[in-house]
Amino acid sequence: MKYISEYRDAHLVQAGINEIARTVHKSWVIMEICGGQTHSIMKYGLDQLLPEELELVHGPGCPVCVTSLEMIDKALAIAAQPDVIFTSYGDMLRVPGSDGDLFSIRASGADIRVVYSSLDAVKIAQENPEKQVVFFAIGFETTAPANAMSVIHAQNLGLSNFSLLVSHVRVPPAMHAILGSPSNRVQGFLAAGHVCTVMGYWEYGPITQKYKVPIVVTGFEPLDIIQGILFVVKQLEKGSYDVENAYARVVSYEGNQPAQVIISQVFEDCDQKWRGIGNIPLSGWQLKREFKSYDAADRFQVQKITPTESPLCIAGQILQGLKKPFNCPAFAVQCTPEHPLGATMVSSEGVCAAYYRYGRSI
Ligand code: SF4
Repeated sequence: MKYISEYRDAHLVQAGINEIARTVHKSWVIMEICGGQTHSIMKYGLDQLLPEELELVHGPGCPVCVTSLEMIDKALAIAAQPDVIFTSYGDMLRVPGSDGDLFSIRASGADIRVVYSSLDAVKIAQENPEKQVVFFAIGFETTAPANAMSVIHAQNLGLSNFSLLVSHVRVPPAMHAILGSPSNRVQGFLAAGHVCTVMGYWEYGPITQKYKVPIVVTGFEPLDIIQGILFVVKQLEKGSYDVENAYARVVSYEGNQPAQVIISQVFEDCDQKWRGIGNIPLSGWQLKREFKSYDAADRFQVQKITPTESPLCIAGQILQGLKKPFNCPAFAVQCTPEHPLGATMVSSEGVCAAYYRYGRSI
């Protein structure tokens, strides 16, 4: 890909680190929202290069990790039904529910297929009119436009055998929940560049003003992340709290407006449960009434499920910046990527998986 190596240039990254070191005078806690950013930080050892005044904590921006246990259990219940083809992103197959995962259901004979897009699932529905095809529509604002489009597409094709199991989550309400908590430690945010590519960053101004924290839209390469941290540190040291864009080569203030239009055409705000965190008001999207016939939870009547989380898992506290994976007694003992107890050890974006993979044990 063009213009990648420039953003991994070790000399430029070191220059950014040096500037951060010259700028910082007090201790600060900064949260990167996105699991992709967490993995970049661990992979390139950026956390180990920063001055000791700065602590990075890792936010809830991994869609697989925050999909509620209840929703995973619903997915398992639907996928196990006869005449159902259940489709999902690959990461979701290993996420533990209360009793097993989608892989174990597939091993028992269920037809569960990995797809790259909800539109692939629409195609499977076209090719299998005698089956009910369900797509597990998880994710943040990034995946919502394509999922909304799949519903419109299925409607245009007249498909009655396609539905979504919807578990969408939104970043701004999660920021409100973290900052509004009495135990909050976060003093500045790196906002997720890909979410802002879709949604812009017009929603973040009121958050900075209400909680007096800087928010910097940040990309995913080492230089992007160092630049985002530098912008946050400069604001913290000055005592200012504004929204800044350190990912201007991709993100605009308004975002992708056609994508926002199709989201609002198909989805509406709803309360949403986040795994390990609990209910966050108006933090999710559900299908609007006129598209309810595409709602798999209604179609398969799997509304009343009471999930059971592993009592050892502290992922919810980790995703709010209150603890680190190595504070979990199960980390790298009972809980490993091969035998995950919680979703943050399963996902390729999960913070526990990042700490395990890159050997962060203190
Ligand atoms: S190490 Fe495993 S059990 Fe502990 S918080 Fe992470 S996912 Fe949960």
